[in-house]
Amino acid sequence: MTGTGKKFGSCLCGSVHITANNPSNKVGACHCGMCRKWGGGPFMEIDCGTEVSFDGEENITVYDSSEWAERGFCKNCGSHLFYRLKENKQHMIAVGLFDNQEDLVFENQVFIDKKPSFYSFSNKTKDMTEKDIFEMYAPT
Ligand SMILES: [Zn+2]
Ligand SMILES: [Zn+2]
Repeated sequence: MTGTGKKFGSCLCGSVHITANNPSNKVGACHCGMCRKWGGGPFMEIDCGTEVSFDGEENITVYDSSEWAERGFCKNCGSHLFYRLKENKQHMIAVGLFDNQEDLVFENQVFIDKKPSFYSFSNKTKDMTEKDIFEMYAPT
């Protein structure tokens, strides 16, 4: 992970504050059906690893979205905060929450084959289909 130092962020209403100690500066977008249902559009996030802390944690509701992951949101304003892997507590944090975005690079798009045709990003990114992802992570 190419960390560029700590990042700070907050939800829309300010009742949840986030500190990511070693975030990536690479932005990913997920076009899967769950992310689009959750957020109304693709989920854009940065991988913040496990070194993440929250102020106002009592304002976070965690939704158990699958066997392997859960999604957190602010219970006061509804801001989407993170997608988190249950096994290792790796946090993909919604990029829009962070204060400083100048060093960020849009790097990859996943589930590109699930993207509806009415939109597409013009950035040059590394794109993966569901099949690519399965082949990369599935123990075969
Ligand atoms: Zn909030
Ligand atoms: Zn997704």
